[in-house]
Amino acid sequence: MLRRKNILMLMAAILSSLLLMKEAIAQEQVWEAADGVYKYGPGHGFNSMFVVTNEGVVVFDSANTQHSKGMLNAIREITDQPIRYVIQSHNHWDHAGGGQVFRDQGASILAHVEAYEWMKANPHPDLALADEVWAGKQKNIVLGGKTIELHYVGMSHGLGMTVSVLPQEKVAYIADIVTPNRVMFTVVPDFNINEWKKVLANVEQMDFDTAIFSHSHAKEPLGTMKDVTLEREYIEDLQAAIMAEFKKGTPFEAVPGKIKLDKYKDWAGYDEWLSMNVYRVMLDMWMGPYPWRPEQAYE
Ligand SMILES: [Zn+2]
Repeated sequence: MLRRKNILMLMAAILSSLLLMKEAIAQEQVWEAADGVYKYGPGHGFNSMFVVTNEGVVVFDSANTQHSKGMLNAIREITDQPIRYVIQSHNHWDHAGGGQVFRDQGASILAHVEAYEWMKANPHPDLALADEVWAGKQKNIVLGGKTIELHYVGMSHGLGMTVSVLPQEKVAYIADIVTPNRVMFTVVPDFNINEWKKVLANVEQMDFDTAIFSHSHAKEPLGTMKDVTLEREYIEDLQAAIMAEFKKGTPFEAVPGKIKLDKYKDWAGYDEWLSMNVYRVMLDMWMGPYPWRPEQAYE
C-alpha cells in the first residue's frame, strides 16, 4: 500500500515538473515588455515583437514560415484578436520572410517603399510581398488606443530600414542595427558604417526605455537605450583603433591582426569576427562609404 502511494506521489511529482517545464518553455519564448507589447524569441537567434490591442494585433518581422507559425501559436495563447498588420523592418529575406502565415489570418503586410522595390526585384520562395507600401520618414499607426511610430532611418543597413517605437509604452523594435553583446556580424554585410553611426546617434534621441532587438546575445531578455549607445561606441572605437594603426604606418594587411578592443572582449563573436569587422570597416575608410545611394542620407 505504502509502495503504491509512493509511486502515485512520484507520478504526481513527474507530472507537475513536466507541467512546470512546459510553462518554463512557454515563458522563455514570450516576454511582456509593456502593457500589450511582447517579445517573441523562441531561442533560435531571431526575435520578433507583437502588440496586442482591442482592435487587433500588430506583428514586427515575420522572419520565416516556421518562426511565424510559432509566433502565431504564441499570440493565440494570449488573445483571439485578429492579426491586422505585419511590419517588415527592412528588405532582407531573413527578416521579411514568413509573412504569408499572417496574411492567411487576414493581416496586411507593410513595408517601406525602398524595401518593397528590392523585394519585388529579388523574390524568395518564403517572401510575401507587402500589401501596403509607405514612403517618407515616418508613418504612424493607431490601433485600439495604441500608437505605433514607424521611423525610416535611411542607409544604416539594408533598404527601407525602419525603427518602430510605441511612445506611450516607451518600447522600440530594432532590427540588425543594434545587436547587444555581440561584435558586428561577420563581414558587416550591407551596412554603410558612417550612416549607421549617425542613425544610432539619432535613435538615441528617440523616446523609449525598453528595446526588443531582432538579434541579441545579452543575458537579459529585454534591451535598453544603453545597448544602442554601446553599439555606436563599438563602431567609434573600431574606427579609432584602425586610424591609430594607419597613423603608425602599419601595413593595411597587418592591421586586422593588431587590433584588440578589450572593452568588448566578452561579446559574442569577438575571437572569430573582430578581424572580419576590421577588414570591412577599414575598407570603408579606405575606399569611402558603401553601399550608398542618392538622396537617402538620414538627416
Ligand atoms: Zn538585415
